[in-house]
Amino acid sequence: MKRFDSVVIVDWSAGKRAPKRPSKDAIWIGIVRDGVEEEPVYCRSRIDAEAWLTAFIDAERHAGRRALIGFDFPFGYPAGFVSRVTGSNDPLVFWDWLAARISDDDASENNRFDVAEKLNAFFDGPGPFWGKPVESRWPDVPYRKAGIPFDVCAERREADMRAKASSSCFQLFFNPTVGSQALMGLPMLSRLRRRDGVKVWPFEDWSDAGCVLVEIWPGLIEAAVKAEEDIRDRAQVRLLARALAGVLPDRLNAMLMDFDASAAEEAWILGAGFASELTKAATRSTALTPPPLRNDCFALPAGVDWTPVDDALALLRDRMTPVVGQENVPLMQAAGRVLARDLIALRSNPPHANTAVDGYGFSGGANRDGPQVLPLVAGRAAAGAPFEGVVPSGSAVRVLTGADLPNGVDTVVLDEDVRVDADQIAFHGPLKPGANTRKAGEDVVEGDTALAKGRVLTPADLALAAAVGHGELPVFKRLRVAVLSTGDEIVEPGAVAGAGQIFDANRPMLLSLCAGFGFEPVDMGRAPDDRDVLRAMLDDASGRADVILTSGGASAGDEDHMSALLQERGAMQEWRIALKPGRPLALGLWQGKPVFGLPGNPVAALVCSLVFARPAMGALAGAGWQTPQGFDVPAAFEKTKKPGRREYLRARLRDGRAEVFKSEGSGRISGLSWADGLVELPDGAVQVRLGDPVRYIPYGSFAMG
Ligand code: AMP
Ligand code: MG
Repeated sequence: MKRFDSVVIVDWSAGKRAPKRPSKDAIWIGIVRDGVEEEPVYCRSRIDAEAWLTAFIDAERHAGRRALIGFDFPFGYPAGFVSRVTGSNDPLVFWDWLAARISDDDASENNRFDVAEKLNAFFDGPGPFWGKPVESRWPDVPYRKAGIPFDVCAERREADMRAKASSSCFQLFFNPTVGSQALMGLPMLSRLRRRDGVKVWPFEDWSDAGCVLVEIWPGLIEAAVKAEEDIRDRAQVRLLARALAGVLPDRLNAMLMDFDASAAEEAWILGAGFASELTKAATRSTALTPPPLRNDCFALPAGVDWTPVDDALALLRDRMTPVVGQENVPLMQAAGRVLARDLIALRSNPPHANTAVDGYGFSGGANRDGPQVLPLVAGRAAAGAPFEGVVPSGSAVRVLTGADLPNGVDTVVLDEDVRVDADQIAFHGPLKPGANTRKAGEDVVEGDTALAKGRVLTPADLALAAAVGHGELPVFKRLRVAVLSTGDEIVEPGAVAGAGQIFDANRPMLLSLCAGFGFEPVDMGRAPDDRDVLRAMLDDASGRADVILTSGGASAGDEDHMSALLQERGAMQEWRIALKPGRPLALGLWQGKPVFGLPGNPVAALVCSLVFARPAMGALAGAGWQTPQGFDVPAAFEKTKKPGRREYLRARLRDGRAEVFKSEGSGRISGLSWADGLVELPDGAVQVRLGDPVRYIPYGSFAMG
């Protein structure tokens, strides 16, 4: 059996429309996708939930993914029930019987007690459906259970006994209202099962189905649910989805194969008899976050004295993998976030053929040269207000930009090219068929991948995602980056600085740099040159962030405590990169979190951040490896560069030429600020003369604005 890519658990409700604020007694949907738990979805009404499920089923099918969807109400009734009502013992026939009779609306007003009266009429004596909000209404539905014979069919199914469930599918009111949930749920299932690729377990052959609908019962994992502080319904769907996604595939398969002969008519509860195994899987912490980095992820090849920049980058590219979990966020808040999955178009853009201009629509073009006169039909098509009728061949109709093309129209002639009187238009041919129209799906076709996983979402991406039907996007959680400055000489910006002290220039720079990258900066402040204090601060930082950026103390001197501490943990990798401006970097893992120990010098700290830390952090954040885009421009400077290391010069463009800062001194912060980007000179020797092409990389290419 093929594995399920996603497991979805639905806690159905027979209740009224639920409040806006997430609460119990609404519909909750738990989702585990590719082993990753998502925030449960909250639906205020059954209609909302059915729309969500329909879109989900279609999107998964488009993406070629397999889904298991569980519902917490009985798919069948005790043996003998459905044949009494429909004459057939096929429960799916009863689903359709109900679907034709149950009504429901957006306020969740429904007629389930009226339908229950009709159902009871098939049986002699009171029942079998019982329970209602008021004793005086619906005379054919008894208020209490006492006196109902349960002779034609039993009160409970075989599956209910096996699962040790005390509820009955005939109880409509007073908790548990399983009977009402089934009456309000089966019509929805009757519609969902008709979508492409959907099969119902165990009534139909589900073994190769792309989407399998199953009956579940959260009571099986009650012990795990009780231990949670969450809203109960929410915890139930979250944990049951986790449990079914978390058991090994052959165990899930065993559960899907385990039902008895009664199931063909009565249905079955997936996992009945497997309660303790499922409960255990529900309490196991799942792969909410991806696996940590390997301990040796920063190891450089041995025996190399100064590692070339490209080798160091290739190594980082190879070893940095996403370390953050996923979440769904509203589309409106998704700018700058990293898309966690390929985004499939749920709808074509445009969804319908429409007109690109204001004008007159007709069919078949106007191939003839010369004047054309067409009779005009009454009415018009405007955006959002389609023309209802059919435009007869040889007639034209008024159309406004963005309007769906009316039936019978495939070509539009522009207002400016037309003369109009009361009931006809005239213009000059020829005009190609399809002129001035947009075809359905000419931009994006439903089912296409609109945006790829790892994409850092731009404003334009949000427009695209919205146009193809998304209101919420799956993104990686924001990468949290702790920033820490080290050195006894460093004082807070704006504070009083004594002799020998300097202001902390790196921290404001690195914090805002990280915010600009779309990460969540975590300000850890300053650490003195004191190993114990620094150790405690690193412990703190590793608990609060996914990555730690430090500056200062990264070399191998007496006061270089960053490298000493990483050394002490056995995690230190000294990166001696053939790069100017640069100093050795101290890289390592601190309590599993990657640490980039940057040089203290602000110029070197910034260049090393842009060249190494940024692409590495992008990969950790799920955005993949990003190479900054540079371009060749004529040099407005001259320089003789020795071989053996790559150099980055602070630069800016003026009149299409790259100027460089007057001094290469690595203490010159003013040069960083003066520049708009960097000129990159290759590792080998170069002689740059005025006008020679040099590679310029604007700060913007490093996502530094
Ligand atoms: P270090 O890497 O600790 O040897 O520091 C190299 C140089 O950078 C020294 O001159 C430090 O004073 C200076 N430096 C270190 N940290 C900072 C900082 N946060 N802001 C400004 N300068 C710094
Ligand atoms: Mg220092």
